[in-house]
Amino acid sequence: MKPAPFRYRRPDSLAGVLGELADAEPDVAVLAGGQSLVRLMNVRAVRPAVVVDINRVPGLDDITLTADAVRVGATVRVARLEREPALRDRLPVLSEAAALVGHPQIRSRATIGGSLCHADPAAELPTLAVTLDARLRLRSAAGERVVPATSFYRSPWTTDRRPGELLTEIEIPAPPGLLARFVEISRRTNDLPLVGVCVAILVDEGVVASARVGAGGVGPTPVRLPAAERALTGRALTELAGPASSRRPDESPLYRALAAAADETDPPDDAVGTAAFRRALLRSALRRAATGVAAVEAR
Ligand SMILES: Cc1cc2nc3c(=O)[nH]c(=O)nc-3n(C[C@H](O)[C@H](O)[C@H](O)COP(=O)(O)OP(=O)(O)OC[C@H]3O[C@@H](n4cnc5c(N)ncnc54)[C@H](O)[C@@H]3O)c2cc1C
Repeated sequence: MKPAPFRYRRPDSLAGVLGELADAEPDVAVLAGGQSLVRLMNVRAVRPAVVVDINRVPGLDDITLTADAVRVGATVRVARLEREPALRDRLPVLSEAAALVGHPQIRSRATIGGSLCHADPAAELPTLAVTLDARLRLRSAAGERVVPATSFYRSPWTTDRRPGELLTEIEIPAPPGLLARFVEISRRTNDLPLVGVCVAILVDEGVVASARVGAGGVGPTPVRLPAAERALTGRALTELAGPASSRRPDESPLYRALAAAADETDPPDDAVGTAAFRRALLRSALRRAATGVAAVEAR
């Protein structure tokens, strides 16, 4: 099929984009990498009257590193997140998660902003943003607001983005000493994950001082797992490394606590898998992420 007829706009300034969005709402779609939008338009699942291409707007693809955060412009390609040396050095978990998104062809066009706004409940980058407490900068003709990723997601493929708003920048906290891993389980390499898990910790004298744990694919939006965060906090780093190497990992107190956290989730029960199956995947992913984070070298 081909898309329904639409008007195509490609402003070369942010003001131009915001003006187009204000004029055409609600019947308008932002075009970033097009890896989801164009497919949905082709099958006529969406039929915007106006498509506003944001790829010519200067400054939307900037990457800025500050003392305790990484700021990424909305049109930065996923492939660049994967490869940019400064990001790989400063926030390697972002490159790790980016490398798991689709195939190289997809990553070369898809953008971080498009992924966050598309809001697939299993997608890697929304899960990472929720776990790391990212802040999303949204601009419209009326002004600007910053929304925590933890409150951006409403339901599958639905966000808190208001008519006329453009996501312009994502700020991801990256405090010195942060150790983080992203682990996913999918049916085939680079498919959307059935379950994805991000674990991030700060360690003080060999003990986990604070932990953030998030998961995708186990509910209508990416979720934080407070019980898993409590289970990790206060543990010796050597204990995190232990479950995978011990002969009976399922019997370790840490693994039992992580498994209990997985059991508190309410995953979908659908054609791809039952809720019980997804919880079992989550238990496994949590264990692998906890083990993996203990092996990350502090920077
Ligand atoms: C074969 C295939 C495999 C894939 N595998 C994966 C996978 O494993 N993991 C994964 O996460 N994704 C996967 N995807 C989806 C793909 O990565 C997403 O489409 C992509 O991340 C969306 O980014 P985009 O820049 O292409 O957005 P677009 O398709 O251009 O836009 C997506 C949505 O976001 C809106 N939007 C885009 N940018 C902005 C902005 N700055 N402000 C406001 N709204 C905006 C658009 O209007 C649209 O509604 C796959 C896609 C394909 C085709």
